[in-house]
Amino acid sequence: MEIGLPAAIVIAGFTFAAAATLLLLSWFQRRDLEALGVWGFAFAVGAIAVALVAARGHIPDVLSIIFANTLLALAYGMMWSGARLFEGRQAFVVESMLGALVWLIAMLIPSLYGWPEARASIMATIGISYTLLTAWELWRARADKLHSRWPAIALLLMHAAALPTRIPLVGELAGTRPTHTGLIVFVLLESILLAVAGAYLFGSLVRERIAALYEHAASIDPLTGVANRRAFLHQGARLVQRAATEGRRVSLLLFDLDRFKSINDEYGHAAGDSVLRSFCAVATSQLRPGDLFARIGGEEFACLLVDVGAKDARIIAERVRFAFEAEVQQGSEKGFGATVSAGLAVSAAEYSDLPSLLISADRALYLAKKAGRNRVAEEEPGRAGAADADIKSA
Ligand code: GH3
Ligand code: MG
Ligand code: MG
Repeated sequence: MEIGLPAAIVIAGFTFAAAATLLLLSWFQRRDLEALGVWGFAFAVGAIAVALVAARGHIPDVLSIIFANTLLALAYGMMWSGARLFEGRQAFVVESMLGALVWLIAMLIPSLYGWPEARASIMATIGISYTLLTAWELWRARADKLHSRWPAIALLLMHAAALPTRIPLVGELAGTRPTHTGLIVFVLLESILLAVAGAYLFGSLVRERIAALYEHAASIDPLTGVANRRAFLHQGARLVQRAATEGRRVSLLLFDLDRFKSINDEYGHAAGDSVLRSFCAVATSQLRPGDLFARIGGEEFACLLVDVGAKDARIIAERVRFAFEAEVQQGSEKGFGATVSAGLAVSAAEYSDLPSLLISADRALYLAKKAGRNRVAEEEPGRAGAADADIKSA
């Protein structure tokens, strides 16, 4: 059985239509995800363009050549706009239609319109430009570590590299040369791959982005914006375990705001909330970016410090304590004060996992409260030196 070039193009067109349908169906379920919609419409416009190319000879040339390629150039521009929207950037509407405009202007020049290879070269240049721009958008936002980003970039680069192979085919479609079956098969398969893998990967990118947003939301305390208890227990356990295997020291600070209930009772819940936010701002400003800080309870906070011994952890805790007291005094219009107590625990052979560190720091915090609040305490102050020695001898 022989499949002619027009039939092959129809097959490619159907694949694009199917890809568009899948993307648009996903978009109808989540209308706020604009990138999905733009990508879906890009594939749909591409499918119409391919169908018009396949109808060459049966419809006027102005439709199968000029209009079809205008749509194709628009589809490429939309693919780029979709990528910009996906990365949270503004879509450049004019720039994404520039390819179509360049194409239309070129077709006003009779010598270019009448020369199939020249037409195909112009379209290949437009296609390559937008495909590389799309790949560039995905590449420069790579920091979010979405898995589908890399195969999507690879697919786009492959498509950009394959586009010039279409140039000789246009001459064949014009009926000026015998058919290169191998080339037709290659272009057909490459188009189908672009449609199927493109729709799958663009869809996956969006799904991965949603999952990452939910994951992030589930690990953040909405009031203060710092990590929540769930994130602290998860990340903290890994941090302590890694430090233990590498023989590194870890200090845990547990902070609990003093007589916080009375702040709520006297000044209202909103004032209490604002004190909680102030504490987080003060504490995080005193910590290094790698330190794990979290709100693990109503007015309780935890901080894990890697490579910090008892002496330095105490200095950090005192810094936070002083800075918080000063900040609340300065920022308070109603003249109230707030202080914080802290319990300190340092990793050692018997305190080498997060739960035991938490128990020790909690006992220390209890001692700080019992001794009058607004202070930093350790469960067994003498043990810190021993803990340091434990680590050194390990
Ligand atoms: P202590 O010095 O012994 O820690 O006394 P305390 O009053 O701070 O301790 P207690 O555990 O009795 O009270 C904690 C209070 O924290 C009770 C609760 O209403 C308040 N709280 C918990 N979560 C929030 C919150 O999200 N916002 C506000 N404004 N208050 C909160
Ligand atoms: Mg408490
Ligand atoms: Mg308290």
